[in-house]
Amino acid sequence: MGVSTYCILWTLWLARTKRIKKGLIYWLPTDGDVSDFVKTKVDPLIVENDELQSEVQKRKDSYNQGLKFFYGVPTYWRGMKSKSGVKSISADAAVYDEFDEVDQAQVAQARKRLSASEVKLERELSTPTIPDYGINKQFQTSDQCHYAFHCSSCGRWNILEDYFPECFQQDKSGNYYHACRKCKNRLDVTKGRWVQKESGNVIRGYQISQLYSPFVSPNEIMHEYLNTEFIGHFYNHVLGIPYLSATDRVTAEMVLSLCDPMREMKSNYLPQTAMGIDVGSLLHIVIIDPKKPTKLIWVGELKNFEELDLLMLKFNTKTCVIDALPETRKVKEFTKRQVNKAWACFYNDNMKGNYAWDEEQKIVSVNRTESLDASTLSIFRKELSLPQRNPMLERFADHCQNIAKVVEEDREKGDRKYVYRKIGPDHFRHAYNYAMIAASKMRGSGIASVFR
Ligand SMILES: [Zn+2]
Repeated sequence: MGVSTYCILWTLWLARTKRIKKGLIYWLPTDGDVSDFVKTKVDPLIVENDELQSEVQKRKDSYNQGLKFFYGVPTYWRGMKSKSGVKSISADAAVYDEFDEVDQAQVAQARKRLSASEVKLERELSTPTIPDYGINKQFQTSDQCHYAFHCSSCGRWNILEDYFPECFQQDKSGNYYHACRKCKNRLDVTKGRWVQKESGNVIRGYQISQLYSPFVSPNEIMHEYLNTEFIGHFYNHVLGIPYLSATDRVTAEMVLSLCDPMREMKSNYLPQTAMGIDVGSLLHIVIIDPKKPTKLIWVGELKNFEELDLLMLKFNTKTCVIDALPETRKVKEFTKRQVNKAWACFYNDNMKGNYAWDEEQKIVSVNRTESLDASTLSIFRKELSLPQRNPMLERFADHCQNIAKVVEEDREKGDRKYVYRKIGPDHFRHAYNYAMIAASKMRGSGIASVFR
């Protein structure tokens, strides 16, 4: 719908009118995105504009992909996931493009680049993904402008997104047209008006969709709606609406409902267990008894790798799967120490089906989405029982609801696939996933058996 181009023009206008002196940062998720964006959207726009061309000539020495001067004002084009060359920049304005595609903690870091500014102009834009997350969360704090169309027949103002698919009605020859919600008369979508849904909010927000795009016909949209395999993707990209089906995210309540009030969380255990460890600034650990139905025995956090060995003894751990990244060296030491028991896990998106156990390297490779599907299913099917509720289990439940399954599009290839997106701290969720992978080895079954 051209919003990125609009934001490039906004950048140039801010520089030209001297509203910003320290400059602007245009954020995209990765350096690769920046490279594509600058090549296909920014540079062509400058090449075709004589005034901008002469501006660029003035500072030819400092005109490159990541930094361009316009009217003496620096504009930085940066990938949020790259760590290089960001800390030294400060600016008066920022655009956060593809807002839902970046870790929200990184956005908070990026905002600090404006902390010294008295101007602080910010724009966020994105295709929405999950409700109450990212751009949708921000939009809810805004005045929520929607594009509305006046019905010349009955006088009603119509917001098409509010009554899709009824906003498309079929004429006598079977073609879809934009219809008034009340009288079904044809609407003229070239004559629209922005209306605020929450006029009390001071932040301005716009929701746009393809429903009134001059480039996509109602017939095309209805065809995709009726035939798509990826309905969530359709809602996000065509309607501009976040979408999550009930099976794409477990809730904390759902997890805590699996607690057995008669069973205490113990500090040791006799039968053989499976252990999963997520590695971060802390070690997050989940221990399960793999016999079915699966029992969660213990969840907790440790600071040091050295403490893991005693924990494995106390809980009679037969198989342990640990996150291979980011502490590769420490993990290698650990899997060497526990040579018959511990495996380092790599997520590999090109894999399909059964987990691949490399007996020599003590490495297990799994498809991230498929493995998370399997462990999610165990919660939905109530094949897991938890000990009686305690603060650590509440944190476990919280981490479980902090991932959601969404459709991701490979922008180069155009492929769509499901991925689990982090929407908050999710360490215990991954620890549980690793524990389930360890359990599958103890049972001698792979991922396929879970789906059977
Ligand atoms: Zn009408």
